[in-house]
Formats: sequence, structure tokens, C-alpha cells
Amino acid sequence: MWEGVYQEFSELTKSEQLALFNAMKQDLFPDEPDKITKLLKSIREARFASGLGCVHCGSTSVKRNGKYRSRQRYLCNDCGKSFNDMTNTPFSGSRYPEKWVKYIELMVEGYTLPKIAERLKIHISTAFYWRHKILNAIGSLGFNQLQGIVESDETFFRESMKGREITHRKAKKRGEKDKKRGISNLKIAVVVAQDRNGNMIARKAGTGRVKAEEIDTVLGEYIHPSSLLCTDTATNYKKFAKLKGLQHETVNGSQKQRVKKGIFHIQHVNNSHNRLKGWMERFQGVATKYLDNYLYWFRWLDIGKNVAFEKRVEQMLISACQKSNHTTVNILRSI
Ligand SMILES: [Zn+2]
Repeated sequence: MWEGVYQEFSELTKSEQLALFNAMKQDLFPDEPDKITKLLKSIREARFASGLGCVHCGSTSVKRNGKYRSRQRYLCNDCGKSFNDMTNTPFSGSRYPEKWVKYIELMVEGYTLPKIAERLKIHISTAFYWRHKILNAIGSLGFNQLQGIVESDETFFRESMKGREITHRKAKKRGEKDKKRGISNLKIAVVVAQDRNGNMIARKAGTGRVKAEEIDTVLGEYIHPSSLLCTDTATNYKKFAKLKGLQHETVNGSQKQRVKKGIFHIQHVNNSHNRLKGWMERFQGVATKYLDNYLYWFRWLDIGKNVAFEKRVEQMLISACQKSNHTTVNILRSI
């Protein structure tokens, strides 16, 4: 029976054969429901972890209001607006829903924009806005509190006024940038702090030498008062520890002191600096105004590095939808 059909198959043109093949493939292996649909329940539970609330006004007087394209819709009794599980997330209103999951996968892999644009066949500026929409969304979740021994130290990045990464067409030779900027070349200080339980904070703290107040701004609220701060002997940290009433141990790197009492050191945080620098190299200089987004991205990947790939993709997707965030292209342009 099938042999007869197959014989006729060979009489078709090449393009007809391909069309038939694709039609049969679709019949035999219909597309699986996309991962977002499958993850919708987890997204809903993370988003409404303390109960269903209106994403527009916060009211809890909300009722279910039918489905649209298999998505549950809700109606707020107070503001009268409706929403679904994805409203005000990076993915709401996207024209390419089938590419969301793939995009997140490439972010977990740490791909650059040109590569992402090529892989997903989207414009590089679309890739850029998606990246920052997602990073703004996961970044809005903030950081976990650091506890116990907390190592902290800063590392420096070259200031970049570059508008966006996408203006970066060709790789510049090392040193070329420096010459052009001359003495206006300022270093951006990034404070990295981490405890011994795998929690990490990495944030832009200021320009040049960091002040105690700047350390407080980026770390203060995230260090548990019972923590013990471990740093080098810089006075800014002494002042910061005093300001917060934290116990403080210092190691004197300039005198080759690496570990004190067998346990106090800043080697973990300095290793993180090295990983961060290595990871950032692929982006060939990040505009300073977006640096915090990249730091959050690095931190997110770093603290989850032992989690299986599929699970990380799922976690990033859920995290990006967890809070109501409304980042538009215009907001991103004006930062
Ligand atoms: Zn409302």
C-alpha cells in the first residue's frame, strides 16, 4: 500500500516533496504545547504567591473572567481593568511568543546579541530590548540577605558612554579606546559581596575610590546585622562596618596575608571578580548605564551554576514574570 504512494512521491518536484514531508511531519509529530503554556501554572503561583491581586492597582477583589487563547483572564472589581497571568511581564504583548523560551535559553548560555539575533532571526535591536526587559524584571526581585561571614571587595570597570551594545559593530583593538579617552577615562567601581552559603551581590557603587556611604547604598539593606564582614584593610570598609555596627575582620593583602585564623579571607569574592571579568569580556565593554543589569545577569548565572540547564531556563522564565514590571522601549531608551 505505502509503496505505491512512495513511488508517486518520486515523481514530485523537489519543493513538492519537501512540502509533503513537512505536512506529514506536522501530522505525525504535532508541535508540543509551548513551554510557556506548560509553565503557566508555576508562573501564576510565583506571581500570586500571596493571593490573587490586580496587577494594575493591587486590589484583591479580582474575579476570573473567562479565557482568551487558552490564557485565563481576570477582571478587577475595583479598577475595572482586566489582566492575565502574563500581563506586565517582559513577554506580554510580544509578537513572537514562540521565541521567548529559546531567548531565555540563550540568555542562560550567556550569548551575545549578534549571536542571539542570528539564531532567532530577530532584529538585533529587538534582541537588545528583550534582554533588558528580562534583566530589569529579574533584577527587580533584588537580592537575598547575606549572613554569617560576608566577604566584600570592589573591582573596576572602564567607564563607557556607549549608547548601547548594538552600536558595537566591530571588535576594537585593545588599547585603542584608552588613547581616545585619555584622562577622562574613569573607572567604575563594582562592589561584590558574598556569604559562604552561595548568596551574592554585585552592584555598581560609584566612580573611582568607593566611599563608605556608597557601600552602604548598595549593600546596607542586604547584610544581616549579625553578619561578620570580611574585607581588605581599606578604610572605607572600616567606616562602613562601624556605620552598620557589624563585626569586622580584615586581611592585609599588601603584607601577603591571605587567611586569618584559618577562616577569614576574601578569596571567594576575588575569585568571583575574576569570573565576572572573564564573563564580561564577550560583550566588549558594556555601557555604564546598563552595567547593573549585566552584573545581575552574571550573579544569577553564577549562583545557579550547579542547577541543571532546563531547570535554570524555567527559573529565569518564572523569575522574569514574578513581579509586575512594565518596561517599555521608551523607558529603556531614557535610562
Ligand atoms: Zn485593579
